[in-house]
Amino acid sequence: MQVKLLHDLVEEMAGLDTGRIVDILFGKRDVNEFLIAKKMELTINQVRNILYKLSADGLVTFIRKKDKRKGWYIYYWTLKTEKCLVKLEQALIRKIENLNGVLGSRETKRFYICKPCGIEVGEEKALEHGFSCEECAEVYELSDNSGPIRDTKAKVTRTEKELELIRGELELIREKEKKKRVRANKKLDKEEAEKKAILKIARAAARKNVAAAKAKAEGKTVKKKTVAKKKVVKKKIVKKKAPVKKKTPASSKGVPRKGAKKVVKKKIVKKKAPVKKKTVAKKKVSLTERLKKKLSGKK
Ligand SMILES: [Zn+2]
Repeated sequence: MQVKLLHDLVEEMAGLDTGRIVDILFGKRDVNEFLIAKKMELTINQVRNILYKLSADGLVTFIRKKDKRKGWYIYYWTLKTEKCLVKLEQALIRKIENLNGVLGSRETKRFYICKPCGIEVGEEKALEHGFSCEECAEVYELSDNSGPIRDTKAKVTRTEKELELIRGELELIREKEKKKRVRANKKLDKEEAEKKAILKIARAAARKNVAAAKAKAEGKTVKKKTVAKKKVVKKKIVKKKAPVKKKTPASSKGVPRKGAKKVVKKKIVKKKAPVKKKTVAKKKVSLTERLKKKLSGKK
């Protein structure tokens, strides 16, 4: 990481001798502002001033927590490295554009210089003043552009290298962030799948309850008249469904009564929730027995 570049950026944003804060914040999270003040040998207000300036551009963020004993808020600061790098990237791009502008004019335009004053002017201005110095009236000489061209080219090259470094760092950070996101998404997907599975089981159980309640309700209504015939049918239905019948008879309300559908539902339920088989078997017996008793008693 180009910590030196972050230094420069901070000083540019927050003033002279503030770059040291980067050393304290870099690579850490939620740094106590009192610790920063202590390390920088500044007052808490001086430190906050620096940090507020940086936070205006999103270069640092904070959380605050109430100090339980003293009752005031303490701020904890985090340097946003990616934001800093983006800022640097933009600054370097602007710098290169400016340098290229200078280079262009040095390569295409004439400049004039007053050697005694060391003042250089463009051709237009030189013309305005009749090619003699505004200050001392000395006659301007034509500037040699080769020096400035060489210097500017060197600056462009240097700045481009810095830009490349920054972009490399940014790529690394973004790659890391991306991986973090992918991991987080995977975790979410997994949780979602688990939730779905639970819901599925719950729905299956609910269906079972409804079917059971329905069966029970039908058993009551059809009882008397056609006992002999219906007995058989009833028993079968009851056997397959209905582990939790008794508890939730209310859930039968609002469900259309279609005898045929019951059977289908039952089958599905069995496949989905194999664990429940045991209880089903138990209840089956007790239900049929109960039914038998009921029926025989009514006879
Ligand atoms: Zn002069």
